[in-house]
Amino acid sequence: MESATNTKPHFVLFPWTGTISHVIPMTDLGCLLASHGADVTIVTTPVNAAISQSRVDRFTAETPHAAGAAGITVTAIPFPGADAGLPDGCERLDLIRSPDDVPRFFAANNAHGEAVARHCLDEAPRRPSCVISGMCQTWALDVARDLGVPCYVFHGFGAFAMLCIERLYEHRPHEAAASPDTPFDVPDLPPPLRCRDLTTRQLPPHFMPPASVGGKALQGMREFDLAADGIVVNTFEELERGSAALLAEATGKKVVAVGSVALCRSPSPGLDPVFMSDDARRCMAWLDAKEPRSVVYVSFGSAGRMPPAQLMQLGMALVSCPSPVLWIIKGADSLPGEVKEWLRENTDGDGVAGSKCLVVRGWAPQVAILAHPAVGGFMTHCGWGSTLEAVAAGVPMATWPFFAEQFINERLVVDVLGIGVPVGVTKPTENVFTAANAADGGEAVAEVMGMEQVKKALEALMDHGPEGEERRKKAQELKLKAKGALEEGGSSYNNLENLIQSFA
Ligand code: UDP
Repeated sequence: MESATNTKPHFVLFPWTGTISHVIPMTDLGCLLASHGADVTIVTTPVNAAISQSRVDRFTAETPHAAGAAGITVTAIPFPGADAGLPDGCERLDLIRSPDDVPRFFAANNAHGEAVARHCLDEAPRRPSCVISGMCQTWALDVARDLGVPCYVFHGFGAFAMLCIERLYEHRPHEAAASPDTPFDVPDLPPPLRCRDLTTRQLPPHFMPPASVGGKALQGMREFDLAADGIVVNTFEELERGSAALLAEATGKKVVAVGSVALCRSPSPGLDPVFMSDDARRCMAWLDAKEPRSVVYVSFGSAGRMPPAQLMQLGMALVSCPSPVLWIIKGADSLPGEVKEWLRENTDGDGVAGSKCLVVRGWAPQVAILAHPAVGGFMTHCGWGSTLEAVAAGVPMATWPFFAEQFINERLVVDVLGIGVPVGVTKPTENVFTAANAADGGEAVAEVMGMEQVKKALEALMDHGPEGEERRKKAQELKLKAKGALEEGGSSYNNLENLIQSFA
C-alpha cells in the first residue's frame, strides 16, 4: 500500500543476475540514487541479494549522514532454478555446471521475472516511480507497464560501445565482410571517436546468428531495448567524448550518464565482508611493501578464465616481467595438475619466497587494488566495470579483450582515450556462450598469445619513456574528471539530480 507521507521518488532496480559484474554496479547505482535522496528497492535472487546487501551495508556504514542512506532496501525473491533443472543456489552464469545449463538459466530467469512481477504488483509496500532494469531482465518492461511507470534499462556497457552497436545494427558492415576475420570500421562515428578494424568474430553477442544458443534471448533483449523509455549508463560525459549524446540521438531515448558508480564508496576494502578474506588482506599487505606505481595488476573480471595453454604463456611472461606482478586467477582449482605445479614452483601463490609474482586465487578487492599507489598498470579483459574502475583510479591498461563488447572497449581505451596498450588479441576467448554454440555446430577458435608478445605489451605498459608517460598523464587527467563528475555540480551528479527530479 502507498505510504501517505512518503513522496520521495522511488526507484525499483532489477539487476541482471547473470554475473556479479552486473549486480555490483546496479547496487552501486542504487546507493548513488539513495545518496541523492531517492528511495530505492533492489529486487533480485537470494544469492545475489546477499552481495547487494553487503555493499548496501557498507555504503550505509560509510555514509550515515547521506540524505537517503536509510532509504535503500534489498528484496530477495526465490529463484526457480530447480524447476528449470539447475542445482540449488545456481543463480548466476558463473555458477552453472556446463554450457548445457545456459538455456536452463535463461528459462529460470524468465520464471523469476514472473515471480518478481507478482511481488511488485500484489505485495510490494510501495509503488515505484520508475523501474531500472538490467539488460537481460526483459520481463521488467511488462512489470513497468502494468504498474504504469517508465522502464529504464542499465546494460552495464559504456556509451561508446552502445553507440557502436547502434551503428552496427544500422549499417551492418559485418554482413559485407568476406570472412569472420575480415576487418571493417564501425561507420558514422565523428572524430575523435573511432572504432577501426573490428571483425565479425569480435562483435558482441547481439550479432550472433538467431539460431545460436541464446539467440532467441538476444532477440528479446533487442526488442526490450527498443521499447525501453531510457538508458542509464555507468559512465561520465567527459569520458566517452560525446558518445552519450550520440547514443541518445541514435536511439531517440533519454540517456543518463551517472558514473563512475564505483566511486559511490571509498576504495578501502575494510568494511565489506566480501573483501575481508585472507587473500584480500594478503594482497593489500603485499602492495603496501611495493614502490609507488611499480606493480602490474593482472585480472580478467569476475569470471574470466583462459585455456591452460594460454595461462602458461601469460604466466611465463608475468614471472619474467621486471616489475612486481599481482595476478588474480579465477577457476584455479580446475586447472590441470602440471599447470598448478608450475604455479606452485614459479609464483608466490603458495609462499615461494623471492618470487615477484603474487598469485591470488578467488575474489580480489579490485577497486582498492587499483586505487593503491603501488599499482602502475592493469592488464585487463576490458570488461566495462574494470575499464571504468581503472579510469577512475588513473591507471593505464594493457588490453586483452575476451568477448562481448570488450573488443569495442579496447578500441576506446587504446585509440580514443590513449591510455592503453593492446596485447594484440584478435579472437575471443572461449566462454560458456561460445562453448554452448560450439556444441551446436558453431565454430570454436583457439588463439594463443605467445609469451614474447605478452612481454612486449607489459614492457610498453610499464615504460617510462615519452609514450608511457603520456599515457600516464592522460590517465591521471581522466581520474580527476571522473572524481569531478560525481562531485556537487559535476555532470553525473547533475544527471542523477535531474533523473530524480523528473519523478518528484
Ligand atoms: N571484481 C572484483 N574482484 C575480482 C574480480 C572482479 O572486485 O576478483 C569486480 C571488478 O571490480 C568489477 C567486476 O567485478 O567491478 C568485473 O566487471 P567487468 O565488467 O570488468 O567484467 P566481467 O566480470 O563482467 O567480465
